[in-house]
Amino acid sequence: MDLSAVGSDVERVIVTEEQLQAKVRELAARIDADYRDRDLLLVGVLKGAVMAMADLARALQRHVEMDWMAVSSYGSGTKSSGVVRILKDLDRDITGREVLIVEDIVDSGLTLSWLKANLESRGAKSVEILAILRKPEAAKVDVPVKYVGFEIPPDFVVGYGLDFNEKYRNLPFVGVLAKHTYS
Ligand code: 5GP
Repeated sequence: MDLSAVGSDVERVIVTEEQLQAKVRELAARIDADYRDRDLLLVGVLKGAVMAMADLARALQRHVEMDWMAVSSYGSGTKSSGVVRILKDLDRDITGREVLIVEDIVDSGLTLSWLKANLESRGAKSVEILAILRKPEAAKVDVPVKYVGFEIPPDFVVGYGLDFNEKYRNLPFVGVLAKHTYS
């Protein structure tokens, strides 16, 4: 779906489709090098990471397994509280596996720090994190994101998997949602 299809709902594009695709290829090359001769299980966080996972997996020059989790963080409105509930768990045991969590965005970092600890407690050999976008808030929480795509301002963004009321996920770029869309 193009920008023209959403009219004035998107105030401005902050990461273009070309920038996203180039960055995913760059991260994939780093991951190929870092995980050479190692096992690799990508764990995508539904639903926001679907686009990143699809692009990343295809850019990797190696065999890779993919699994998915869906979590919901309790909190008031748009802020997460760090209390996380698993809506869909992994299909397989991850004991001894080298896990790379693929996430769309880190905001407070609470969801990811919970998820990392949860996967480590299952006996994974390693658990690292890739996030396509990172907001400034994330710096306050000590969540080690090994692979970061873009540092973005603290605006509410949509596209490339990120939604507002389940819409805009299929935009190929990341844009700031116009205030009139949600107020
Ligand atoms: P946190 O890092 O605060 O625990 O939560 C991260 C989650 O909040 C992300 O996975 C995403 O679902 C949601 N989120 C945070 N910032 C944004 C944003 O700007 N746009 C959208 N659509 N979701 C966001």
